[in-house]
Amino acid sequence: MAAHTYVLVDVDDALAPDERQAVQAGRTFRDAHISPFADGIELRRETAISTLRLASQHGLLGLQVPTTQGGLGLSVLAAARVYEEIAEGCLAHAFSLEVHNNIANLVSRRGTKGVQDRWLPRLLSGDAVAAFCLTEPAMGSDAVAIQCKADSVGSDWVLNGEKAWVTNAAGADLFAVWAQTDAAAGSRGIAAFLVEREAEGLTVTDPYKLMGGHAMGTAGILLRDCRVPADGLISPPGEGFQVAMQGITAARIFVGAQCCGILKAGLERAIGYVSRRKAFGRPVGSFQGLQWELVNVATEREAARLLVYRAAAAADRGLSATVEAAQAKKFATAAAVSGLVTCMQAMGAHGFLIDSTLGRHLATAKMAEYLDGTSEIQNVVVARSLFGGALD
Ligand SMILES: Cc1cc2nc3c(=O)[nH]c(=O)nc-3n(C[C@H](O)[C@H](O)[C@H](O)COP(=O)(O)OP(=O)(O)OC[C@H]3O[C@@H](n4cnc5c(N)ncnc54)[C@H](O)[C@@H]3O)c2cc1C
Repeated sequence: MAAHTYVLVDVDDALAPDERQAVQAGRTFRDAHISPFADGIELRRETAISTLRLASQHGLLGLQVPTTQGGLGLSVLAAARVYEEIAEGCLAHAFSLEVHNNIANLVSRRGTKGVQDRWLPRLLSGDAVAAFCLTEPAMGSDAVAIQCKADSVGSDWVLNGEKAWVTNAAGADLFAVWAQTDAAAGSRGIAAFLVEREAEGLTVTDPYKLMGGHAMGTAGILLRDCRVPADGLISPPGEGFQVAMQGITAARIFVGAQCCGILKAGLERAIGYVSRRKAFGRPVGSFQGLQWELVNVATEREAARLLVYRAAAAADRGLSATVEAAQAKKFATAAAVSGLVTCMQAMGAHGFLIDSTLGRHLATAKMAEYLDGTSEIQNVVVARSLFGGALD
């Protein structure tokens, strides 16, 4: 794809020099460890947790952990740019890294000193991998209704329940688990706990067989009388739900950014192919009908980037950014699904080959429509801002 610098979209100009370095590190990591291997990993349905650990060699673990605690202290905008670059190679790898980094960030901001001393060095070196566990087999969108129970026993907590769709579960060493401490209290009863993989009573199921995104090692976990020491309580009742929602807002921005990355990969692949492929004596890319289809994809991608960067800028200013993040994620994921289908179509049957990589990107674009809340739930968030309590 020929390079064009959009004056208002060369967002990296707005980043600090060390943030631009992190974006470059994301590209280097992608080119060295992800792009050359992602098709094979997906074909063999392997997890790629070992690749996540390698991100430490490129300084990409702890993107938002404060520098005083050994992280990079990146803004949401800079972190979004890093994930956008990595996703250009594979969205599943980018999301796996993002989940890990989000939990490292949580530990750095809410863990006790003892928990930070024990876990942060391991999370930042890649020695330990983290996972986020909110969704359950019987509950996804309605997060307030989680059934996993946490009972206070002496100074400890005992967890019982099941979590589903846990990204990184296959190789994770540390699970951040949201559980209900008092069903009558609703969202105010929800708390978050750090559970170690070796904890008695925790079992990880086999990874799911999916349409794509196997690199993430997504699986379920079972908690049976799983004892968590007092300092494993990372967000107490009354705060746990809020903390989850704040994390999810940032995660929606990052997923939107990742969709912009896979759209770039799809466009580049399609434009390269149609510029070479001939039909009726001309490159198929010279047909205006085909060009305009790809123009639409490129335009939607630029619009998605603007929504993502606006949401990130709002979050960096300390605003809630909930609506901005929902709009960015809703738009970027839909643009990625439809845009990648268009790119595949432009490549004729060749686009349908595994080697074209577009099928892999398309599967992860579809996956992104579920991650951190479905597109319908983004609509619920935006509708709430439009109507307020007017219809209650
Ligand atoms: C590959 C993958 C990895 C994931 N990783 C994680 C992870 O690491 N941690 C984690 O906690 N979760 C994870 N998830 C789970 C994800 O967050 C949920 O799938 C998502 O929140 C939706 O929940 P659900 O699938 O149970 O759908 P449901 O809640 O059962 O919804 C079913 C359908 O109903 C629609 N719906 C629900 N409520 C409404 C409404 N009010 N209005 C209109 N439509 C509605 C939904 O949009 C959906 O289309 C992952 C999911 C996938 C696919």
